[in-house]
Amino acid sequence: MEMKRDIVIVGTGVSGLFAALNLPKDKDILMITKSDVKSSDSFLAQGGICVLRNEEDYDSYFEDTMRAGHYQNRKESVDIMIRSSREIINDLVGYGVEFEKAGKNFAYTREGAHSKPRIMYHADITGKEITSKLLAQVRKLENVTIAEYTTMTDVLVENGKCVGIEAENELEREIQIYADYTILASGGIGGRYKNSTNFPHLTGDAIDISRKHGIKLQHLDYVQIHPTTLYSKKPGRRFLISESVRGEGAVLYNKNKERFVNELLPRDVVTKEICKQMKKDGTDHVWLSMEHIDRETILNHFPNIYQYCREEGYDVTKECIPVVPAQHYFMGGIWVDSDSKTSMEQLFAVGETSCNGVHGANRLASNSLLESLVFSKRAANKIKGFYIEKEDKTKRQEGQTDEQNYHGIAG
Ligand SMILES: Cc1cc2nc3c(=O)[nH]c(=O)nc-3n(C[C@H](O)[C@H](O)[C@H](O)COP(=O)(O)OP(=O)(O)OC[C@H]3O[C@@H](n4cnc5c(N)ncnc54)[C@H](O)[C@@H]3O)c2cc1C
Repeated sequence: MEMKRDIVIVGTGVSGLFAALNLPKDKDILMITKSDVKSSDSFLAQGGICVLRNEEDYDSYFEDTMRAGHYQNRKESVDIMIRSSREIINDLVGYGVEFEKAGKNFAYTREGAHSKPRIMYHADITGKEITSKLLAQVRKLENVTIAEYTTMTDVLVENGKCVGIEAENELEREIQIYADYTILASGGIGGRYKNSTNFPHLTGDAIDISRKHGIKLQHLDYVQIHPTTLYSKKPGRRFLISESVRGEGAVLYNKNKERFVNELLPRDVVTKEICKQMKKDGTDHVWLSMEHIDRETILNHFPNIYQYCREEGYDVTKECIPVVPAQHYFMGGIWVDSDSKTSMEQLFAVGETSCNGVHGANRLASNSLLESLVFSKRAANKIKGFYIEKEDKTKRQEGQTDEQNYHGIAG
């Protein structure tokens, strides 16, 4: 089966949806997703989304991002992300996203390795709030179609340029979708791990396909392990206990219920300390206690975590819960420039599958939703620019032809 669209987007998480919302409304856009439209990591994000609160916070936010990333970050990308953050929050609010307020102003929380509270949130379901509102907006667009349970299996390449993708679904084994531009927004790689917080169908397909075509990749070894997921012997996705719980005062204990680490150090450092402690104690997990957080804060700020733990048999307002590190995020990916262009013409990559260098070797908490949104908007704007250039060129050529015709006739 063969079809032609103007733009094809692989993935319906925040990065794919936000790209669709920012692309020209007169372009025919097809979005595909491997699973149902709500099964993306974007829906799972708990803690929140970072923002530059004011000019005085710039240096400190920049430094926190760089330090967490072991100074392996691309500085230009970090600057773009921070400088664009307020605009992105305004866009989200414009799309109906609701953030927690303290009186009339927005409330800000803190997570590990942040020197100040600068994270906006919606209880502990920030990702669901943002992604469902963006999805509702995309559904209103007449120029965008979403195909669920449709998996990209390859990219189509002609003369070194990407001209679309190949996909499959239950009905069709080979669907060739030709497009002027292709945007890969296919998320992370957690599905390749036994223990991960990610959806199992997120298996880094775009990375494999890119490798096959010699598209530039970067930092494939930069994988983030989250220090605190709820320990379970059941198979399947690991449930995240957000870092903002520690930001609000939760502490980690060893088997003797003694603290052994500063809980607000960067994720990779806390993870290492937990692994060391488990080895020393001969245990499969350590303990997380929320006893220093008042009950009302737990119920208001972390209702999802509270409820999930209740279902698993733990009352976090009264007792410690067992936690263990698990794969969480992929900092590396398909190399892109600051407009999310890959090394192949007409091919863009955004969100977790891309590597614009923002996160360096380790992502600062709550920077990924922001990064996904900032750089998918930039991809959309770049594509918009390409179309305008093309149209101008066509008009100029038509003008020249008209002039030639006129002179031809006049002569
Ligand atoms: C539990 C959890 C909590 C998190 N909390 C936070 C947080 O508080 N703050 C924060 O900033 N970040 C957080 N993150 C990270 C953040 O949610 C993700 O990095 C971000 O949402 C990635 O968005 P995305 O659009 O790139 O990918 P995703 O939202 O994962 O979407 C990927 C899409 O690609 C599709 N796809 C994949 N492969 C194919 C294929 N071959 N063909 C077709 N479709 C395909 C999937 O079906 C899906 O639609 C969290 C992540 C997890 C897992």
